[in-house]
Amino acid sequence: MINYNEAIEIIKSEISKIKLHSEEVDIFESYNRILAEDVIADVDLPPFNNSAVDGYAIKFSDKTQWEIIGEISAGNFNSFNITEEVAVLITTGSKIPVGADTIIPVEDVDVESNILKLKENAFIKKGMNIRTQGNDLRKNEIAIKQFTKIDSKSIAVLASCGKEKVKVYSKLKCALFATGDELIPINEKPSEDKFRVSNIYSLYAAMKEMNHTVINLGFTKDDKEMIRRKVEAAFEMNIDMLITTGGVSVGKYDFLKEIFEEQGVKEKFWKVNIKPGKPIYFGVYEKDERRILVFGLPGNPVSSLVNFYVFIKPSIEFLFKQNRIDKLTATLQNDLKKKDGKRHFSRGILYQENDELKVTSEFSQSSGNLVEMSRANCLIEIEDDRLNPKKGERVKCILI
Ligand code: AMP
Ligand code: MG
Repeated sequence: MINYNEAIEIIKSEISKIKLHSEEVDIFESYNRILAEDVIADVDLPPFNNSAVDGYAIKFSDKTQWEIIGEISAGNFNSFNITEEVAVLITTGSKIPVGADTIIPVEDVDVESNILKLKENAFIKKGMNIRTQGNDLRKNEIAIKQFTKIDSKSIAVLASCGKEKVKVYSKLKCALFATGDELIPINEKPSEDKFRVSNIYSLYAAMKEMNHTVINLGFTKDDKEMIRRKVEAAFEMNIDMLITTGGVSVGKYDFLKEIFEEQGVKEKFWKVNIKPGKPIYFGVYEKDERRILVFGLPGNPVSSLVNFYVFIKPSIEFLFKQNRIDKLTATLQNDLKKKDGKRHFSRGILYQENDELKVTSEFSQSSGNLVEMSRANCLIEIEDDRLNPKKGERVKCILI
């Protein structure tokens, strides 16, 4: 059986063959999308020398008193010629008049009619409080790099560069369905031996959190013919990925692997030495121009979501060159049991106390316990060869 690192390398190598497309969107729609080009500044930023404070513009000398000859407010420039004897009232963001090289903040002066006086202990320095043209960025330089995920910080730079339309990568398209005779729709009350189909909702949301497109194909019984029809329907679609759940273990009614093979999917791996989520299947379907990555995840809702977090999500981030910090090292607050050579992803709660990151993991760690999973905020990653980490040891936590 391959290990986690080998599996993730295989997925990365296949996912990087996806041809990325781009599209133009309105700047307001660009939030959380990934920039498909370097954005170049079309002007200097800031575009002109301007005042960083509300104050008085002067020409620096050893004088401490000036005659006020007028005012300039932001956006309402008046031209003046500033000599050593005169000053102009100026507000933050106003263009600096000719001759002025220094702005004295209003707090540092006294004004009597039209006479400006520097306060006793005020200190002035030539050039102070002027934001110079192009100081933030020069025209024709790169303002934001390709592959930046647009957020509230970077969108202001796009706006300052006049980008009403933004070229972003098209979202990936992913189809999703679940399998299992035990599944019922969520609007029904489980009776006897049935479960509400919960994992299509978690996987749907997980793809949405990454801002990609998901097509929900619902669920089907563990019936070969019905599953085959679902798979065929998915492969007719213009999708980059198919995610299925259930039916990839070694149970009598685990048909998915067989059906994928029959449909021409090339298996890249089946089963990885991890816990939970060991039965994961990964293959690639290629026909004509279509190339679809196929992820057959186990049905167990915790396992399938952990699989998403540790295989699918990092691979998509790799494809779009996202270098988010999503692994933190924390001090374990309780002993963990791990006796095998698998890589474990245990549910944990990460928190900060006295400037130290700590993580507790006092869950049952049963892969059936969905509610427990919903209360966790990280997965504690315990490397393959590490055994029984003890309270006080440092462990890697993946934020979820
Ligand atoms: P499987 O991987 O098909 O053997 O499924 C393992 C267990 O996970 C099943 O017995 C169900 O309890 C549960 N399960 C499977 N599929 C789903 C699903 N789509 N939603 C919720 N629970 C599921
Ligand atoms: Mg099943």
